[in-house]
Amino acid sequence: MQRLVTAGQVLVGPVGERIGDGAVLVDGGTITAVGPRGEVERQAAAGVQRHDYPGHTVLPGLINCHVHLAFDASMSPVEHVQEAGDDDLLAGMAQRARQCLDAGVTTVRDLGDRNGLAIRLRDRIAAGELAGPRIVASGPPLTVPGGHCWFLGGAVDGDEAIRDRVRRNAALGADVIKVMVSGGQMTPGSPPMWSSQFSTRELSLIVTEAAAVGLPVAAHAHGTEAIASAAEAGVATIEHCTWMREGGGFDRRDAVAARIAGRGIYVCSAMSRNWQAFLARLGPDRAGQMLDRLRWLDGLGVRLIPGTDGGLPNSVFDDFAGALTLYGHLGFPPARIIEMATVTSAAALGLAGRTGRIAPGHSADLLVVDGDPAASLDALGRRVLVLAAGSPV
Ligand SMILES: [Zn+2]
Repeated sequence: MQRLVTAGQVLVGPVGERIGDGAVLVDGGTITAVGPRGEVERQAAAGVQRHDYPGHTVLPGLINCHVHLAFDASMSPVEHVQEAGDDDLLAGMAQRARQCLDAGVTTVRDLGDRNGLAIRLRDRIAAGELAGPRIVASGPPLTVPGGHCWFLGGAVDGDEAIRDRVRRNAALGADVIKVMVSGGQMTPGSPPMWSSQFSTRELSLIVTEAAAVGLPVAAHAHGTEAIASAAEAGVATIEHCTWMREGGGFDRRDAVAARIAGRGIYVCSAMSRNWQAFLARLGPDRAGQMLDRLRWLDGLGVRLIPGTDGGLPNSVFDDFAGALTLYGHLGFPPARIIEMATVTSAAALGLAGRTGRIAPGHSADLLVVDGDPAASLDALGRRVLVLAAGSPV
């Protein structure tokens, strides 16, 4: 079925690519035309389903590059995952995926589940059995015994276990291999955030094994040593990238950041709309350093992609636009933030050519909002239509 979406302006995705009084033509799940309204209208069949929004903006559906649908954003997500059976957990994940979609997010990357449940959910959504965003999923993240998120089932000890886990995740249908290179903040008894769980050699083995089955690697790395290992091993994305050193301080290294930029590795800070409260807890000095690192990375040419770590305490799934305000606070213009959450994120996830841009042949993942989000991101909160692969939400 054909749909014609007309709007006061079309934001194609990249900064500056704007069509005033524009339209998008959709056939089934695919965009077939975009351009000035009159031109696109002429290509539409008689009886096309029209969605007319003068005074509104149509833009690509947003991409959240870091979520955990298995976690419920309560104060006890780890306990809840451990208590739930797979069927209950999957039902909750489907609800949370739906929340993402309602919030204008048409693609999420799930960076850690149990038993490949996000992969199962991905397939059910893709088959049209459930409404939800496109899911790019990792399955259980690689970690060490007793390490960060060990309870998701991806603990490995030694090279053979590493190879086996990568192959098993690939067999589950994973789109990406996730590895907890450093400690994290939510697993009692696991290594501290600054310390590395894997050596550079082991991480290189993970990247090689993943490449052998055609998969990129996403590296969770808070510690500076872990970040340096990830850059050296050649992962696709570094999550968090907080440059922590032993003792609680920060240790940013220009040479490592230059390597990240030079190798085209993307960095996802993974902060939710709750970023202000999170930074407030750190105190002004550490908060300032956490924020400044993103400006510093950007200044060195590192490509930043937004994600929320959705599912962690207070990292809700239904306010991605709220999470993007972090970049406004850093001084990024709204049009640039939209580009990051669409074009850049699609490229980072290997989806360039499929989503993240309004172009013929791309999936019809569209968002219509009241006002001009390139002037003020607040408009992203005023959604009037979300199309996911051509289906209205
Ligand atoms: Zn995470």
